[in-house]
Amino acid sequence: MYDVIVVGARPAGAATAVLLARRGLKVLLVDRARFPSDTLSTHQVQPAGIDRLRRWGLLDGLLAAGTPVTERVRFDVGGTVLAGGFPQGGTLCSPRRTVLDTLLVDAARQAGAEVVEGFHVAGLTRDGTGRVDGIRGRDGGEHHAPVVVGADGKHSLVAKEVAAPVLRAAPARTVASYAYWEGVELPQGELYHRPGRAVAAFPTNDGLTMVYAAAPVEEFGAWRTDVEGHLLAAVDGCGDLGARVRAGRRAERLRTTIDLPNVVRRAYGPGWFLAGDAATVMDPVTAQGISNALADAELLADTIAEGRGGEAYQRARDEARLPLFELTIGLARLRPPRGLARLFLRAAARRRASTEQFLGVFAGTVPVRTFRRPGNVARILLQPPGG
Ligand SMILES: Cc1cc2nc3c(=O)[nH]c(=O)nc-3n(C[C@H](O)[C@H](O)[C@H](O)COP(=O)(O)OP(=O)(O)OC[C@H]3O[C@@H](n4cnc5c(N)ncnc54)[C@H](O)[C@@H]3O)c2cc1C
Repeated sequence: MYDVIVVGARPAGAATAVLLARRGLKVLLVDRARFPSDTLSTHQVQPAGIDRLRRWGLLDGLLAAGTPVTERVRFDVGGTVLAGGFPQGGTLCSPRRTVLDTLLVDAARQAGAEVVEGFHVAGLTRDGTGRVDGIRGRDGGEHHAPVVVGADGKHSLVAKEVAAPVLRAAPARTVASYAYWEGVELPQGELYHRPGRAVAAFPTNDGLTMVYAAAPVEEFGAWRTDVEGHLLAAVDGCGDLGARVRAGRRAERLRTTIDLPNVVRRAYGPGWFLAGDAATVMDPVTAQGISNALADAELLADTIAEGRGGEAYQRARDEARLPLFELTIGLARLRPPRGLARLFLRAAARRRASTEQFLGVFAGTVPVRTFRRPGNVARILLQPPGG
């Protein structure tokens, strides 16, 4: 009998297990994968997520694995360029998932959690009152605990089994492709929004550059006939980034997906919690998923360890996540800003403090609501250039 069983051992689940085991709880962490294991995902971890890894004593391991640190980003939205650092000197890292997820699984084991890799959960068990009280593996083996955490990703079996209500959803909006290039000159992280396209380039482990491009999902039929051609054409539309990428050499295969749902689920019920993508999944255009998963882990570990109810967990989750969810599904339409939004971005680009504040929204260190507060919007629109 365990105190907590966690299903899924990537950012949400492994981090939850680390934090609970460090507080002395008896934790079972299971995943059908065996680590090191890659997954279909790019991997910018926003400054708020990096700050959590630092506080948990895990950042040094990430850096020791040769993960480059990104201190400056350049966000080019339809010709308006917001370039600078993050508020309070925050940093971003883009570790390969083989590196990040393995580091978290090792940390869970070190903290005292029992970690079982290659364990495929086939269902949940319930007590006489219908409360979830464990998991059943594909091989029929059962494990029991008063709390089961579903950190099992966007197609969460736990969420399905408990019929977790969907609170907010939007249709999948993009097709995303990415690959790794070597020999690309990239002085900073770079992001571009063009009509019908989003592009990102970030440095990652082994001297490689991750290059990502997204297009409206309606274009998938044409996109899939020549993924590299479409990806490079999108990158060619981003200043000299195309020339810099073409000067390098693609080092790994291209990856493409349209499995990009936008869903917010109820995150708790009798005997169960959801965390990470199982609870809130959104288009990767704003690269929030990993940081969200780490934030959920921290909130959830506090909730469980302090015996608080799920309602407080969900309230905190919604408050932090819903504004970014709305912003993300808006940006995933891949339409350039117009009218006041365009003027506002231009004004924000004029001063360093406003640029940092804008970048801080995606970094997870400036709440969307703070940035969009009418007083803040007026201040930015009216500020003179410079500084
Ligand atoms: C193309 C793409 C690009 C992305 N880019 C970024 C980015 O740049 N930055 C960012 O922050 N996020 C990005 N994301 C999102 C990010 O990948 C997810 O938000 C993140 O992985 C969520 O972590 P998680 O721990 O909740 O779930 P996952 O990483 O999905 O892990 C779930 C785990 O549960 C396990 N599991 C599932 N079912 C079972 C079962 N029945 N039994 C046992 N184990 C099970 C799986 O094996 C898996 O290991 C991207 C996603 C995609 C698709």
